[in-house]
Amino acid sequence: MEILHVSAECYPVAKVGGLADVVGALPKYQQSLGHIAKVVIPMYRTKFLYDNEWEVVHKGSFNMGIQTLDFTIIKEKENTLGFDFYAVDINGLLDREKVYGYEDDSERFTAFQIAVLEWIAHWQHKPDVINVHDHHSALIPFMLKYCFTYKHIATIPTVLTIHNAQYQGWMSWDKADYLPAWDTWKWGLLDWSNTINPLATGIKTADRVNTVSPGYMLELMIQANGLESLFQVEWAKCSGILNGIDYAVWNPNTDTFIIDNFSVKDFTEGKNLNKKKLCDDFDLDIALPLFVFIGRLVGEKAADLLPEAITKAYQENGTVFNVLILGSGEPKIEHALHSLQNKFVGYYNTQISYNEKLSHQMYAGADYLLMPSRVEPCGLNQLYAMRYGTIPVVRKTGGLKDTVIDFGEDGGYGITFMQASVQDIVQAIQRGITLYRDADKIKTIRKQMMQLNHSWEESAQKYIDLYDSIQP
Ligand code: ADP
Repeated sequence: MEILHVSAECYPVAKVGGLADVVGALPKYQQSLGHIAKVVIPMYRTKFLYDNEWEVVHKGSFNMGIQTLDFTIIKEKENTLGFDFYAVDINGLLDREKVYGYEDDSERFTAFQIAVLEWIAHWQHKPDVINVHDHHSALIPFMLKYCFTYKHIATIPTVLTIHNAQYQGWMSWDKADYLPAWDTWKWGLLDWSNTINPLATGIKTADRVNTVSPGYMLELMIQANGLESLFQVEWAKCSGILNGIDYAVWNPNTDTFIIDNFSVKDFTEGKNLNKKKLCDDFDLDIALPLFVFIGRLVGEKAADLLPEAITKAYQENGTVFNVLILGSGEPKIEHALHSLQNKFVGYYNTQISYNEKLSHQMYAGADYLLMPSRVEPCGLNQLYAMRYGTIPVVRKTGGLKDTVIDFGEDGGYGITFMQASVQDIVQAIQRGITLYRDADKIKTIRKQMMQLNHSWEESAQKYIDLYDSIQP
């Protein structure tokens, strides 16, 4: 089967969050199952672009509104990623430093999607399925079916994978003329509450829709940033497939980012050395349990609750634990977390940035990973943490609920809580502090977590089964 993944991110080329990790891993595992998986993303100005060799595979142009845009599809020559990797170059529009966050993001991602379709329209054959990811590519199923120019490829089956339904790519109706001429009888497929809503359009028009965990799909039926009723109507074509971990990247035994490699057979010393490095670098006390947070500093991750929760936990328990924060996001949250540094010198620190290497070192060296998320479609951090013997402290939501069992339950290994509230976080930290005193128990839990199987193999096959179910 030939699969084309269309995405805004792909690790290690361009990463903002979990979307990149999935799109960088899933195709690799689909290839190893004997399929052909290709990935196409916009050509940003990233290090990967300059570090690798490229060949031009297609050139074309199209009209978008009143502009005519030239585009080039380039392919990475050496198959560095383990699958065919393509990038769409549109001068001035896509070739920017950042992935998102520009005023003209709607134009950028609409142009990207049109370029991809223009390219496929020139293939000598058709792929067996197009798997689009999140709202940045969710207009493709609509355009494929209802833009007149793509009639000859309209039957290619499509799957929309939703990594995050909070962001929907809303566009005002005056941008409708960005799309190539389309069947205006179908305007209702573009519309949601009087705006063009690309994610909603994808849900309505893709042949299948999946989220990155089964639990998140169930939650979307009742809480989906305005799309609940749509998920309810379309439930028959919706499902959840849990993300896996790319073991080639996330393996404490081979990870080149960490100070000392370790495995499930012998992790005590390795974890200690990694913790020591973190404590030395960030002025923390090695004798105390180390709680870390890694992620986007936004309300979705409940990062806004952390300053108060951490302060309260220190007030109630004394300075008997360390906290290290790595993240970037909303300036107000960044500031609040950063300013705690002066208050809790010697056992609290932050790194307000995006730092891939440090994130690996933190998964390896920490005792606990905090994830109080309000919304968590799958959550990869807790899977990485467990792989590195770090106990996840999570709110029971979405994929966190699907992957973490509280150590108080039979066969459990994590710390879970119900509410995204300061009090629940404080109590969870308290449980972590108490658990840390029982060295044998901690060791047993670490061992158990490191042996959990979160490999992509099984999930990659589930994607293939999904594609199979929509073959003509
Ligand atoms: P989301 O995609 O919602 O941000 P996920 O848990 O699915 O959350 O994936 C987050 C990914 O991004 C993980 O690989 C995590 O390690 C990484 N990450 C998030 N923030 C940072 C950061 N500041 N520095 C390094 N890696 C980060």
